[in-house]
Amino acid sequence: KNVIAIIGRPNVGKSSLFNRVIKEKKAIIEDRPGVTRDRIYGSADWLTRDFIVIDTGGITLENATFAKEIKLQAEIAMAEADVIVFVVNHQEGLLPDDEMIAKLLYKTKKPVILAVNKYDRKMNQDETYHYLTLGFGEPFLISSTHGIGIGDLLDEIIHKLPSPKEQDQTPYPSVALIGKPNVGKSSLINTLTGEQRMIVSPIPGTTIDAVDSLVKYNGKNYLFVDTAGIRRKGKIESLEKYSYLRSLGAINKADFVLLMMDMSEPISDQDTNIGGLAFEAQKPIIIIGNKWDLLPTEMKDRKRREAEIRAYFKYLRYAKIIFISALEKQKIGQIYQAIDDVDASLKRKIQTSIFNEVLNRAQLLNPAPDHNGGRLKIYYGSQVEAYLPTFVIFVNNPDYVHFSYKRFLENQIREQFGFEGVPINLIFRERR
Ligand code: GDP
Repeated sequence: KNVIAIIGRPNVGKSSLFNRVIKEKKAIIEDRPGVTRDRIYGSADWLTRDFIVIDTGGITLENATFAKEIKLQAEIAMAEADVIVFVVNHQEGLLPDDEMIAKLLYKTKKPVILAVNKYDRKMNQDETYHYLTLGFGEPFLISSTHGIGIGDLLDEIIHKLPSPKEQDQTPYPSVALIGKPNVGKSSLINTLTGEQRMIVSPIPGTTIDAVDSLVKYNGKNYLFVDTAGIRRKGKIESLEKYSYLRSLGAINKADFVLLMMDMSEPISDQDTNIGGLAFEAQKPIIIIGNKWDLLPTEMKDRKRREAEIRAYFKYLRYAKIIFISALEKQKIGQIYQAIDDVDASLKRKIQTSIFNEVLNRAQLLNPAPDHNGGRLKIYYGSQVEAYLPTFVIFVNNPDYVHFSYKRFLENQIREQFGFEGVPINLIFRERR
């Protein structure tokens, strides 16, 4: 998926633009402990394109100066985004901080779109010419809170995205390995790459280094993205924050997410926070319980351990879970197997007639309850072309869909068709 980064000094309206762009997706916020605090990350679509939006304003460092913080935000935007939206505030005009950000952005080869926020139709358009001095061309005049100019801005974003043809030709799955420090990520990368040659691909024009490792297994290629950060330890002041941001970047880049945990330790908030990132990114996910070798025999009950993990990651209920030992090189093959299985889930196409049988059966089993003043009636549905399995379901009124009923339908679909490891999307449309 493509990534759009929103950048700008505080108070220009980044978050309201962010919220405006990701709007309806926010409904998926549910039982995720501790995740929603930093809401810097959302998915959105416009016309035929899906993309991820990052509000870099949410990326902050403890005790850092403003200049340092902005620099980090700009670096992340430049490293991770396909298109950068630079927001300034028309009511306050251009401030030195805006110019500082502009200077940072000059270094990137990525397209930058200038959005002049808090613009009001009553204002004199001639007053906006001075924004040209920033050097990002004609500005887009918007009001995030009033919804002015957002459509044009989104059109421009889509226009500037790389074409799907350019990017859809990934010859191998790309995989992000994430997890809090010390769970064994570096050890696994070492085990996976072994004596194999590494392919180094620094992203040009950034100071954040990224190294991807291409691994061949059973004649197939797998790309583990951003494996350099995994090794850089000790040098970072705030390791926790660093690994969080690192994970965010790797998740954006990859098709699949491997969330690693240390099974010899209790599951912590930090594990679930990082898991929340993967969930919000709507990526296929595989949970890896590492250091299985350290567990005493009576603890080596896979079913039990799996149930424990599931209790913590309720929102990742579709995730596949495997247990390995990176150090002892145990069950490593399962990782590739899991990726292949998930890949197959992504590509699965369900026949419309069979899908509708499942919908009908689900309704007989559990008729929809009244919700929002009406009772849901499902007419029919079918799978549509999309990266993630996506089903459009035609109903009498989408407002009648209760969250729990949607979940029930999703469970029925999963029970019938699997789709293990991947998020699935149900889109409800009105049909009179
Ligand atoms: P990272 O921070 O996630 O990259 O974690 P590391 O790979 O550096 O691992 C942290 C520590 O855990 C190191 O001392 C590793 O040797 C150890 N470790 C990693 N994987 C395993 C494992 O499967 N079993 C055992 N016993 N130790 C492990």
